[in-house]
Amino acid sequence: MRSGRITEIKTHLVHCPIPEHLRVRSGAGLKLARQAAFVTISTDEGLTGMGPCSFGSASLDLAAVASMLDHAIAPMLIGEDADRISYLWEKVYYGSITRVLGPRGIGVALLSGVDIALWDVKGKTAGMPIYELLGGAFHNPVPAYASSIYWLPPEEAATVAREYVDDGFGAVKIKVGLNYRNDIESLAAIRAEVGPGVDIMVDANQCYSRHLALKVGRELDRYKVLFFEEPLPTDDVEGHRYLAGRLDTRIATGENMYTRWDFLPYIEQRAIHVVQADASRTGGISEAKRIFELAAAHHLYAAPHTFSDVLTVAASLHLSATSSNATLLELDRTYNPLMTDLVKEPLNVHDGVVELPGAPGLGLEIDWDFVEANPYHGEHGIGAGARPVFGLAHETLPDRSVEALR
Ligand code: MG
Repeated sequence: MRSGRITEIKTHLVHCPIPEHLRVRSGAGLKLARQAAFVTISTDEGLTGMGPCSFGSASLDLAAVASMLDHAIAPMLIGEDADRISYLWEKVYYGSITRVLGPRGIGVALLSGVDIALWDVKGKTAGMPIYELLGGAFHNPVPAYASSIYWLPPEEAATVAREYVDDGFGAVKIKVGLNYRNDIESLAAIRAEVGPGVDIMVDANQCYSRHLALKVGRELDRYKVLFFEEPLPTDDVEGHRYLAGRLDTRIATGENMYTRWDFLPYIEQRAIHVVQADASRTGGISEAKRIFELAAAHHLYAAPHTFSDVLTVAASLHLSATSSNATLLELDRTYNPLMTDLVKEPLNVHDGVVELPGAPGLGLEIDWDFVEANPYHGEHGIGAGARPVFGLAHETLPDRSVEALR
């Protein structure tokens, strides 16, 4: 059975403001809203697939991005055979992304949405969930960790950690980068609260300098942290290699990396232990799978980043299920209606795991009434991210004190 020729591609945008008292802040910025962008692809066989594009921690005009897909990328795909996913990936990548849209950023995120929508179509044609098309489940259900404990005073950070553990999670993540003292005191308070049996991950959102990351990293070794995420700006491969050679804690990065070619120097230079490719940003399920396998060939782990919406989680869920080196899936536990209300039936999350959906394709059905009721009108989803600290270890930037959170 064939999926047919592509007849229509359209981008859909959703905007849900976060109530002020539920907004969270990290080195990536202050979150103001939850927003989703997803692509639908229809074929002349009457099938429609959907795929999320995640734009992560950045302020941008989603409407301009949608226009780019609808007017620049879609014309390359109309009339094509929807089953030729690998060919269509390269047609868009080499036809436009490496020439004008750029191999990092928005263009690759849009390609991700296209790729995932094509996998959704293929699954619907085959009558199988995507994880079955990818080789069948290795992990079922897929273990997940609670993301995240944001910048807070230590005692409040410990309270949030307790809530996540009481919800059934065996692994929690804390955001650091506020300032050295609060970062370490929060980590200590969380470890004391949850005990040695719960895994803790630490995420700096690219906020540290090399020496501050090393100083913090030595504390992470003491507290038996599972991995140290984005300790440094993504451009600094050498800095990650420097940390990886000096710390016991694993170095993780990848949520702001695009395609296998961003990951390759990290892997070749032994600067990474955990690849965090996000299927909805790094080039789709096809590209994230290549990255996971590249990591596996070097005996490295994969722990996909997911944060935007339930479609993004589902894409990484199918991929993680089939990847032996993918041991933990990120799961957003902050205020996010896009995790539940964007689809008619949300994913089944319980006891720190996510069940694989049984329906064909991604296994989710969009709630179009919700999409219509939450339109996007140019609002920014997040404030500007913090710059790395280029100073002494105890430096606290004026806008990064605990008091500034109040
Ligand atoms: Mg992160």
